[in-house]
Amino acid sequence: MGQAKIYYDSDADLGVLSNKKIVFLGFGNQGSAQAQNLRDSGIPNDQILIANRVDSYAETAKAKGFHVEHDFATAAEVADVLFILIPDQVQPRVFNEQFSPKLKSDATIVVASGYNVFFNLLKFQPGQDVVMVAPRMIGSSVRSLHQKGRGFPCFVSVEQNGTGKGLDAALALSRAIGATKQGAIASSVREETMMDLMAEQALWPNIIMMFREAFNVLKDAGCSDEALCYEMWMSKEPAEIFERAADDGFVAQLKHHSTVSQYGQLSGSLKLEGGAMREHFKDILYNQILSGKFCEAFSQIEDDLDKEGDTNPLNELYKRSEEMELVKAEKRVRARLAGLL
Ligand code: NDP
Repeated sequence: MGQAKIYYDSDADLGVLSNKKIVFLGFGNQGSAQAQNLRDSGIPNDQILIANRVDSYAETAKAKGFHVEHDFATAAEVADVLFILIPDQVQPRVFNEQFSPKLKSDATIVVASGYNVFFNLLKFQPGQDVVMVAPRMIGSSVRSLHQKGRGFPCFVSVEQNGTGKGLDAALALSRAIGATKQGAIASSVREETMMDLMAEQALWPNIIMMFREAFNVLKDAGCSDEALCYEMWMSKEPAEIFERAADDGFVAQLKHHSTVSQYGQLSGSLKLEGGAMREHFKDILYNQILSGKFCEAFSQIEDDLDKEGDTNPLNELYKRSEEMELVKAEKRVRARLAGLL
């Protein structure tokens, strides 16, 4: 593959959205940010409808002057464009049962994450367009960067081109939410899902494991809880390193460190051949992610994630993580520093 195509404002024509009813299912992190950005881009308020159950999110949308529809069937019937911006794990149930049967046969459906489309968990009609417009930012940043007149990184793709004009719609919608200002990267639900799940299931678990084991070794060698917690993350040094990596370069940021540090980091990392880790990562990518094994296993526990207490599998994992010495030590440090942090 190599180089990706990048789409800018000049590639998108907002005119393709004129007179289209644009429905946002969900007014949470992404829903509230994207709907407000889209309205700021000049899409008339009467063309925008927020579909939300009766609760505080709906109240927030009303307070911001949006039209709100609580009845999902009604929202589905009028939608020319539907942004699905509710949590990924509830999308199949809500979309397939309450939206799909009522949606227009040529509607444009927009997802902000590849997962449900890649694993075929959403039911579309053949004449519909299915596009991904996936900001690489949390909702509050999608909103604040747009308000500052700046853009945000975003992936865009057409996954089903039922009308033959899916790309025009995807680009116009990307521009309307502010995603082509900085350049929206042509991607796919496959690429987005692979990268997301690899980060979540391979890269970060190993980073957590490495912090845990470095902590254990240094603790055994006599380091105090306070010194370790501050040295390793509470000083925010790792956050700063990643910030500089984004600004200056992944390796070039090392130049901000001492010579001892630069030498240690470069010689240490180049010495590690990485073959076993590469095989481990490949195993996760092919046998756990792309094979659908993770998706299948996750589907089976999805309903339990709404439960309270220990029967919720996520709560159970949090409980087990509390056995990590790093977590116990951090708790002690935060208690001792209570009021000072
Ligand atoms: P949120 O958790 O913020 O979604 C909250 C919204 O979903 C509320 O409007 C809530 O309304 C509604 N909702 C929750 N459960 C249900 C349900 N069972 N039925 C109907 N509505 C429900 O979601 P995000 O904005 O975080 O995520 C939306 C999409 O954006 C996802 O696909 C996610 O992967 C993607 N994304 C998210 C990012 C982020 O910043 N978090 C970054 C990039 C992409 P109520 O409870 O009132 O019904």
